[in-house]
Amino acid sequence: MKFKIMKYFAVVAILAVCIVAGGMLDNQNKEASRSLFAMDTYMEITAYGRNSQKAVDAAAAEIERLDALLSTGSQTSEVTVLNNEKTGKPSEDMAYLLERSQEINRETEGAFDITIYPVMRAWGFTGEGFRVPSDEELSRLTDAVDMTRLRYEDGILTIPENMEIDFGGIAKGYTAARVAQIMEQYGVKSANLSLGGNIQVVGAKPDQSAWRVAIRSPEPSEAYVGIVSIENKAVVTSGGYERYFEQDGMTYHHIIDPKTGKPVYNGLVSVTIISEDGTYADGMSTALFVLGRDKTISYWRSHREKFDFVLMDESGMMYVSEGIEKDFTSEREYQIIR
Ligand code: AMP
Ligand code: MG
Repeated sequence: MKFKIMKYFAVVAILAVCIVAGGMLDNQNKEASRSLFAMDTYMEITAYGRNSQKAVDAAAAEIERLDALLSTGSQTSEVTVLNNEKTGKPSEDMAYLLERSQEINRETEGAFDITIYPVMRAWGFTGEGFRVPSDEELSRLTDAVDMTRLRYEDGILTIPENMEIDFGGIAKGYTAARVAQIMEQYGVKSANLSLGGNIQVVGAKPDQSAWRVAIRSPEPSEAYVGIVSIENKAVVTSGGYERYFEQDGMTYHHIIDPKTGKPVYNGLVSVTIISEDGTYADGMSTALFVLGRDKTISYWRSHREKFDFVLMDESGMMYVSEGIEKDFTSEREYQIIR
């Protein structure tokens, strides 16, 4: 009799363990995802685990909040109001973006400059219809491109006459970094954030393996040029092929050299930056695209703790920094930079 009762208890105990373990597994694998269109791009957020649905909802709200703050296309956004009024107190988000932009501007000899906006407009990249400005017009406009002339003191930003700012080269990376923070606040240990060309991942995949992120190909016929395996990092690509127009047999793209006011042609087709800091990865992908291959390599050699890169040039050759040697695969020819 005693033996029978013990057997009965054992069965109940095993059942209970199975139910609890099954529940935990279920929670771990619980997936929530959401697609949205913001900042002129298609975004997709996927999170796993117990709070994933709440985290994804909070992430979407955060993206919409930042879009409303930073969109130059909106007449009521904080950035448009500041551009019009020329002086004011930036929000916490904008203050942070200003500081990070200043840092990247300093680090890259001015290759990254948020006062490029009037030049972007002259080329029609802000939506008014594409055109090729004259050299004379560009020389006049570039005289007013220099973000070191912005005054940001005691919490007040002052924008000189003729100057306007835009965070288009860094806003998506910042947004991805903010969303990653939100995921962590909700206790999400695994998430994949895809904001246009900006990818940021939280933790590893639910099965504990690394996330495999494809680096887009400049050619529409090819899906990707390589795959990088990452955990807790951002992968951000800047490329001329992302936005461009053609006129009289020439192609004009959206990454502009602040010195000339013209699209950059230096032999690079794309720059991918891999870093734990999503804001930095975005700003630097734009800046290093402007600086070109050799300057990117020498900058990386003195800042290798901050990021890794994958560069692709016009001949299709790729250059990959040593830090991701073991985490990078490609069918193409590539050279490891040490
Ligand atoms: P990304 O796709 O991150 O490389 O950013 C490209 C966008 O950044 C452009 O569409 C412009 O809005 C802006 N931009 C273009 N050239 C520059 C530059 N030299 N410095 C800062 N932002 C730029
Ligand atoms: Mg960028």
